[in-house]
Amino acid sequence: MKLFISADMEGISGIVDPSYINPDNGKNYERGRQWMTDDVNAVVEAALQCGAEEIVVSDSHYHMTNILLEKLHPKAKLIAGSPRDFSMMQGLDGSFDAAFFIGYHTRQGVPGVLSHTMSGVIKNMYINDVVVGEFGFNAIYAGLMGVPVCMVSGDDLIAEEASELIPGITTAVVKKAVTRTSALCLPLAESREVLKQQVKLALQNKDQVAPLTTATPLELTIEFSHAGQAEMAAIVPFTRYQAERTAVSLTADNPHDLYRGMRAMLNLAGTAEFF
Ligand SMILES: [Zn+2]
Repeated sequence: MKLFISADMEGISGIVDPSYINPDNGKNYERGRQWMTDDVNAVVEAALQCGAEEIVVSDSHYHMTNILLEKLHPKAKLIAGSPRDFSMMQGLDGSFDAAFFIGYHTRQGVPGVLSHTMSGVIKNMYINDVVVGEFGFNAIYAGLMGVPVCMVSGDDLIAEEASELIPGITTAVVKKAVTRTSALCLPLAESREVLKQQVKLALQNKDQVAPLTTATPLELTIEFSHAGQAEMAAIVPFTRYQAERTAVSLTADNPHDLYRGMRAMLNLAGTAEFF
């Protein structure tokens, strides 16, 4: 059994605010990346006990060089570094039996610890009119590759967001959101036990979670925070600019073009000046 793990940072045990996740100036960042490595190791260890033979971990936060390779479980392979065409999902193909999303968070504009979608420029993102955050986007991508997302870990609110899109998904709740930068955290040792238990459950129930199906062609629409960002995103060829909602849409025939198209729009939009 082959398992793909996309590991983000905001939903990791104990992490509550940007000081834990910002590699450039976060005063708690070194603690945050250790905790991220520990959460991933708990998941890897339990998955191996449940019969996983090959595990690929995709470091999926910011510069994607957070997980401490020297402390990662020796049976897990790590995809690290950026940029990469498929970002948080780099390395996934149809040969995997299941995907787990570890340390995930809710989408932009809703409550939840460190809620956002990809970067600061996105107000809302839709695939075929379904609003998606990082969880939804990546789960649809995995589904298009024929891989079911069987487990998510993070706060109580990403557990809800994930369950709405994928009924039956196993959720590991490691903290309860209080505000966007505050949470009631389980003790770390207990958190890791929850992760291990839920991995076992997720792999037992693996066959009851089907890969998400999404009609193609895929219509991706991003509503940006301001018009300058939308105007920059609309430079991407074959996009359609809807000025009245500061949104830009594109149509993709396959998951790879969907991911590349989203990244192209986001990176251009990120260069727009505000003040
Ligand atoms: Zn992140």
